[in-house]
Amino acid sequence: MKKRPGKLFIISAPSGCGKTTLCERLLERMPRIRRSVSFTTRPPRRGEKNKRDYFFVTPEEFERHKKKNNMLEWARNFGFYYGTPKDNVLKLLDEGTDVVLAIDVKGAMKIKKLFPSAAFIFITPPSITELEKRLRNRKTDDHFEISKRIKIARIELSYLPMYTYNVVNDNLSKATGKLKAIIKAERCKVGK
Ligand code: ADP
Ligand code: 5GP
Repeated sequence: MKKRPGKLFIISAPSGCGKTTLCERLLERMPRIRRSVSFTTRPPRRGEKNKRDYFFVTPEEFERHKKKNNMLEWARNFGFYYGTPKDNVLKLLDEGTDVVLAIDVKGAMKIKKLFPSAAFIFITPPSITELEKRLRNRKTDDHFEISKRIKIARIELSYLPMYTYNVVNDNLSKATGKLKAIIKAERCKVGK
């Protein structure tokens, strides 16, 4: 029987919602799934490692990858550029490995055109007040940056109907369980 290609999972969420935390927990529990590491021109946050969390590149390097057609999609967020490396994702899918892209709504809509059968998962916060609290507790952004992220979160939340699944990240364990269930169900789908 022919090996099926890997399945693509797109996970989006407003910044501070817990997408990184949830993806880490998911990958620890489902070792057969891989996360694509994106390019970004944003500087690393405390604790972030080059090549593990992002490929931290200069704007010139980012531009070079774009020109070489080395990205599946790219977008600008909070003044920095972010993009999905093409070759690695295509190779993993071709080998039959499932891949997670943790990307913003703009990137997700571009991927939807390229991979209509991908699974689109939107993580939402229990409330905007809780989202603001999480951003404050994370201590990576100042007051001005947090209010910018909240404003953008409201716009991003309007993209929810474009996604296949919604997981509310209220309780971390429950939300992780729901993500795992979605992946298991997608793997059982007939025909895709
Ligand atoms: P994102 O990647 O979406 O920007 P993070 O994963 O960095 O978000 O999470 C933002 C902050 O919220 C972090 O400090 C994280 O520990 C915390 N967090 C994530 N999920 C939950 C949750 N379910 N309940 C409470 N705090 C959470
Ligand atoms: P952060 O700086 O908080 O890590 O990410 C900011 C936003 O950029 C988040 O919404 C995150 O999902 C998004 N992002 C990260 N990598 C990519 C990518 O490769 N492409 C796109 N379009 N968005 C990305």
